[in-house]
This record gives sequence, C-alpha cells and structure tokens, in this order.
Amino acid sequence: MSYCPKNNLLNLLRRGSKFFRKASNSAAPTVAPTSTPGQASSSAAAISSTSAMDDLHILKTRLCIIGSGPAAHTAAIYASRAELKPILFEGWMANGIAPGGQLTTTTDVENFPGFPNGINGIELMDHCCKQSLRFGTQILTETVNKVDFSTTPFKVFTDSKTVIADSIIVATGAIAKRLDFPGSSEGPGGFWNRGISACAVCDGAAPIFRNKLLAVIGGGDSAMEEATFLTKYGSIVYIIHRRDTFRASKIMQQRALTNPKIQVLWNSAVVGAYGDENTNNRVLGGLKVKNVLSGEVSDLKVSGLFFAIGHEPATKFLDGQLELDSGGYVTRPGTTLTSVHGVFAAGDVQDKKYRQAVTAAGTGCMAALEAEHYLQEIGSQEGKTD
Ligand SMILES: Cc1cc2nc3c(=O)[nH]c(=O)nc-3n(C[C@H](O)[C@H](O)[C@H](O)COP(=O)(O)OP(=O)(O)OC[C@H]3O[C@@H](n4cnc5c(N)ncnc54)[C@H](O)[C@@H]3O)c2cc1C
Repeated sequence: MSYCPKNNLLNLLRRGSKFFRKASNSAAPTVAPTSTPGQASSSAAAISSTSAMDDLHILKTRLCIIGSGPAAHTAAIYASRAELKPILFEGWMANGIAPGGQLTTTTDVENFPGFPNGINGIELMDHCCKQSLRFGTQILTETVNKVDFSTTPFKVFTDSKTVIADSIIVATGAIAKRLDFPGSSEGPGGFWNRGISACAVCDGAAPIFRNKLLAVIGGGDSAMEEATFLTKYGSIVYIIHRRDTFRASKIMQQRALTNPKIQVLWNSAVVGAYGDENTNNRVLGGLKVKNVLSGEVSDLKVSGLFFAIGHEPATKFLDGQLELDSGGYVTRPGTTLTSVHGVFAAGDVQDKKYRQAVTAAGTGCMAALEAEHYLQEIGSQEGKTD
C-alpha cells in the first residue's frame, strides 16, 4: 500500500485543497484515509529493517527524514539506495500542506529538469514518493510534533510514535505567506493558480502573464526582486504597498524604482479580486485596491497578482533544539549542516534565497550524502541503534 499523494490525496486535493489547508497542523490523524492505522507505506524489506522495540509505537532507524517535498524525497532516494533504510515522516497537513509539499499547491511545474512539457506539481511529487518507496524508504503519514536532539541516538515524536534515529534530516520546507481577501483563494470564485501566485520565478513565464498588466504585493527585497523579474514578461508591473516607504534594501529599491516598466501604488491594499469577463471569469481580470489613507477603492485591471510578503519556515516543532536565524531558518549557508552534529537540513527550511524544487532536491541529495558520511564516521553502518 502506498501513501504517495496520487493514491491517497490527489483526488481529495483536486476536489478542494482549500478545505485541507484549513485543517489544523497539530490535529493530525495518524494515518491517511486509505491506510491501515499505524502502518507504513514501504516495501517489506524496509519494514523488517526497522526493528520494533516493544511494539510498533517505537521504531529504530539509522536515518529519520522529516518532510515530504522534493528535498525529503531526494534525501530518501539517496539514503535508501545507500541501504540506510530511512524512515520518512511525510506529515499530515503539517503547516496546512499536504504530503508532497508546496508543489501540491500548484499546477504546472515547467522548470524541473526532465519534463520538457512541464509536469503537474502533484504528479511530480507522486513520482518522487514512488521512487523513495521503490528503494525501501518507510513512509509514515504523521506530523512530527517534538524532537529530542540533546543526546544520541536522537528521538523524534509524533502523536502515536517515537523514532530513535542515529541521524536526522530536517526537510520540512516553508510556506509562502498569502493574503486573504475575496477572490484570493482556490476553488469557486477564487483566482489562486488562475492569475494569483506566490512565486514569480515559478509562474511568471506562463502565457497568461505575457505582455499583460501585473501586480506584486510587498515592500521588501523579495517584492523588488519579483517585480523586476516580472518586467521580462508583463507590460507594466505595479508594486502595491501599504506604506509610503519600502523596507527593501536601497539597492533593490533603486533597481525597481528606476525600471520604466514598474509603477508603485503607495499606501494601498488589495481588498478583492475579480474575474476576466472575456474568459467567463476563468482567470483573474482585476483587483479592487483601497487607498489606506483616503479609504477610496479603485479598479486595477491586471491579469496577474504575485504575493511577495515573505515565507515562514516550518521549524516551530524543533522548539529551539537547532540554531535558527532571525527568520526562523535552519541555516549554515552553503551546507546542509546544522548546529547539532548528525542532524542535517535540506530544502526551503534552510534556503531563503533560491526556494526552488530543484535546489531543494539538490540539498536533499547533499544532506543524504552527509548523513551517510556521518553514519560511517560514528561506525553505525550496521545500525548503532540496532
Ligand atoms: C504555489 C507555488 C508554486 C511553485 N512552483 C514552483 C515551480 O514551478 N518550480 C519550482 O522549482 N518551485 C516551485 N515552487 C517552490 C517549491 O515548491 C519549493 O521550493 C519546494 O517545494 C521546497 O521543497 P522542500 O522539500 O524544501 O519542502 P516543501 O515542498 O515545503 O515540503 C515540506 C513538507 O514537509 C511537511 N512537513 C512540515 N512540517 C512537518 C512536520 N513537523 N512533520 C512532518 N512533515 C512536515 C509539509 O507538510 C510539507 O509537505 C512553488 C511554490 C509554491 C508555493
């Protein structure tokens, strides 16, 4: 039995991922709807490799991977091919995201190598999941809510299980912050993925944005970068900002403000989005923009809106056991190391610069190789915890 998104979540997500995203992080069922409680989706080899102690609630492994995006699955593919028989916690709507990670919230992924015609985000993650399973990764559909990295072996806790692990890879990703206003969501009446996005680099080149009026919400470096990037595709890019100054660095501001294709709407907030009548309201047609000083609401006819208001890395469950930077990222720039020897981090949870599926996958590979070296170093190829 597989827990890959296609098998247990694809249809549900397609029917209404908004519903799922509203689910609480902590109120995590221990199993997916189609699963048997407490069972892992894995090959028989992987199950037998993880020795149960008293019962199935305590598992032991050389490597525990937390997360289920491209970073976690790439780490799992490398680690399982290296016969580390990893256990991977894919989460259950952890941070409001389905197993498979952020790509399950998008449609076409056009910049992941190997798919010249693009690939649906859920389908890509389904392939990754199957590849992890193929080499013997044991996948558990539970959210990790506590860890103990104070001594080795490390401990990882969910509501129903404790995993004792010689090494850990944290690949819990991040969420792109979004604003909530009428028309901003997915589903009926909403234009998320139909003109509204949170990633200009990912979606900006889509045909619906070419030579069109576009808008970016934000006032930091990301907003300046996204707006500047979007001028390659859009005819005009509006930056909509609540205040009368940006908090972006001077150089980024200057780059944006001197770009002839960028216009700024100061003291402004988006209060609604509506459809394009020419397409029967299938895609975004414009925004209602409120001047926060005068209260006046005006129409801004744009075909694209990009949120650039920051990301939140999924690190709260670590409860201070790894050093984080001021933004909450686990980070040792350019590496997958963390402040604890034997605990590694991969993907968006440690990358506030690139935030792409391929870079997440790249660091997943790095973290798995680092974990393998670490396990050799501590002499646990046969399993210190066995
Ligand atoms: C709308 C959108 C469109 C995008 N489009 C593209 C694109 O076209 N191309 C591209 O390259 N990139 C795209 N990206 C960016 C890309 O999705 C991310 O860079 C990538 O998914 C990061 O991968 P990750 O492995 O770090 O983690 P994520 O994809 O963030 O996945 C992390 C997973 O870990 C789980 N998790 C979190 N906490 C826990 C826990 N405590 N226990 C267990 N599990 C947990 C989460 O539920 C999540 O499923 C897009 C992002 C968004 C939001």
